[in-house]
Amino acid sequence: MPERPKSLPRPWKPKARENDKMQHRPRSHDLYHTARWTRESREFRKKYPLCVKCQQEGIITPAEVVDHIIPFPLCDFWDKTNWQSLCRKHNIEKGNKDKRLLHERGINENHRENPA
Ligand SMILES: [Zn+2]
Repeated sequence: MPERPKSLPRPWKPKARENDKMQHRPRSHDLYHTARWTRESREFRKKYPLCVKCQQEGIITPAEVVDHIIPFPLCDFWDKTNWQSLCRKHNIEKGNKDKRLLHERGINENHRENPA
């Protein structure tokens, strides 16, 4: 019986050169769904209840999510000095920026959204 080729071309998948190297890393998708993240991000937002970006613009907006300033996996996920409270609008903006940055570095990270 002929052996199957190890990797078939998958044209429907986006090119991710670094993908093989990245596979041992935990996916942020999984970390965002841990009890620890739910608990610690909630505590963080209790401490910093306002969107920091809105505050920079002089607007008071309640934060809805906790964001990583340096996007995961480029940072330590649990390093709170790298966390910031954001409103939904600023989280989406930041998420798009992070996606571009990670893409430039060949990191394919689709699930950074934190719905909490
Ligand atoms: Zn905001």
